[in-house]
Amino acid sequence: MTNVGDICKALGQIAPVCLAAEWDNVGLLVGDRKSTLTHVMTCLTVTPETVAEAIGKQVGLIVTHHPFPFSPLKTVTTDTNIGTMLWQLAQAGISVYSAHTAFDSASEGINQQIAEILNLKDIKPLEPVDDVSSPVTDGLGVGRFGIVEFASLAELVNKIKSTFNIKTLHVVGDIERPLKKVGIACGSAGEFIRCASRQGCDVLITGEARFHTCLEARALGIAMILLGHYASERFALDNLAATLADQFSELTVWASTDEEDPLTLH
Ligand SMILES: [Zn+2]
Repeated sequence: MTNVGDICKALGQIAPVCLAAEWDNVGLLVGDRKSTLTHVMTCLTVTPETVAEAIGKQVGLIVTHHPFPFSPLKTVTTDTNIGTMLWQLAQAGISVYSAHTAFDSASEGINQQIAEILNLKDIKPLEPVDDVSSPVTDGLGVGRFGIVEFASLAELVNKIKSTFNIKTLHVVGDIERPLKKVGIACGSAGEFIRCASRQGCDVLITGEARFHTCLEARALGIAMILLGHYASERFALDNLAATLADQFSELTVWASTDEEDPLTLH
């Protein structure tokens, strides 16, 4: 029977942990590699909703993008939200694997997927990995940039809205400005504005950014598109579920149906 360790190995191929940022916490974070399973669920984040869905649907492993837990813990008790979820998961025998920045940067990871959705040409990492000696990381790195076929910021914004099914999004910069190079950094990655500027990008697409980062973008003369943290990453967890379902036909694999963006537009 398939066990948690088998899925961990496959995830290590899809998103090699050596690609993760130093500050990150990735890999199998909760559970037992030897535990056998029949049901796997992917989601963006471990929350009370996704934990309840996993328990209700007899999941053996949650593959989550955001690390759970992220920070070191001194206690695992039901006195805290994190402790409650960990206690519930442990009682139900559910393991948790988080890929996070390893998946952001992987050859078929989130940023590469966005670049391909937008049909960018000559796609390269915004910040290549330092260790070029490893065949696993060679040519990879953080974020992506490439040449875009859309002539203006307005055309790119419309393409993103229709593709990601977003009604409105925040944009920094003149909407009619012409475009050539587009940078991509999913999630909360406004700090990549300087890196994108150095690579000659006309615009950086990210999930969310601070107000002062938006002002910095204006000062640097680079546009920014903020499509929302959830929208910039969640679609890739649907794709990851499909990839795992292909590789492990004996398992039932799906992306959480109960997870939703905590932010709504009114
Ligand atoms: Zn994120």
